[in-house]
Amino acid sequence: TAPARDRLRIAIQKSGRLADPARSLLAACGLSWRQSRDKLFCFGESLPVDLLLVRDDDIPGLIADGVCDLGVVGLNELDEQAKARRQLGLADAYRPLRGLGFGACRLMIAVPEDWDWQGVQMLQGKRIATSYPAILSAWLQEQGVDAQVVELSGSVEIAPKLGTAEVICDLVSSGATLAANQLKPVEVLLESEAVLAGPAHALDDARAGLMAMLLRRLDGLSKVQDQKLLMFSANEDRIDDLTRLLPDATPLLRLPGAGEGAAVRLQTMCTGTLSWQRLEELERAGAQGLMVLAVEKSLV
Ligand code: ATP
Ligand code: MG
Repeated sequence: TAPARDRLRIAIQKSGRLADPARSLLAACGLSWRQSRDKLFCFGESLPVDLLLVRDDDIPGLIADGVCDLGVVGLNELDEQAKARRQLGLADAYRPLRGLGFGACRLMIAVPEDWDWQGVQMLQGKRIATSYPAILSAWLQEQGVDAQVVELSGSVEIAPKLGTAEVICDLVSSGATLAANQLKPVEVLLESEAVLAGPAHALDDARAGLMAMLLRRLDGLSKVQDQKLLMFSANEDRIDDLTRLLPDATPLLRLPGAGEGAAVRLQTMCTGTLSWQRLEELERAGAQGLMVLAVEKSLV
């Protein structure tokens, strides 16, 4: 078994789409680092949590080998490597712990624009270029389609032009890259986003506590992301009407101390959007002194 360690190690992408959002998210969780000169390893200052800056493809393997305890990686990459391990008969080595709400994209089948798409049976006997051979072959099998998977490590979208494949299976976000190559997306294999990945089995030393704390802080962040604190006063007899106007809010909490005249001071947490129009509606129903506050942190 691996030796006990008392510092947690998190792998994130060194540069690329996930690099900045991963760093910002971890910083929002209260982590900070001393920048090392080679910039591959960042020593944690505020907490015993260090960063390893790597290529995203390497992250699942680093977790599998126990070199890192956690990683921020696209679900697409994690899922591909997990399926590849399974196809080789290896045990599961990592799992997604939390979706992180950035890096959203879809793994999709794209065909030449001039195809009249009739469904997956059109892929029968075709060559499909992809960087995700394990996910693609598992999906083809599920669909009962027999096609040839052509593995490419990059620039998959030009394969049809080069004649190496008729069809591609690649990540799509805006669809601009596909359109620029006269391709259109037709089937979704995976809805992906960046995830915090961890080992398949729980740690049993000091790192377990650090990991639990980090997860709790992450949950606190994602919980407050679209929450607003709404404060106002109202007369006692308006409270039922106002509650009906706030179906997406927690029960109204009465604050101690009287408001003006017969009014009570109230507050609630709201998850929906509090537009100007909605505030004006609440005001017409008897709310006074409405105030909307953003929530920054929460431990609940
Ligand atoms: P590295 O040098 O680390 O290997 P990369 O070129 O493989 O970088 P990026 O292009 O930075 O990786 O993409 C990283 C992740 O961003 C992808 O694995 C995916 O989860 C996500 N992503 C979001 N939108 C897109 C998109 N339109 N194309 C590719 N990846 C996307
Ligand atoms: Mg990569």
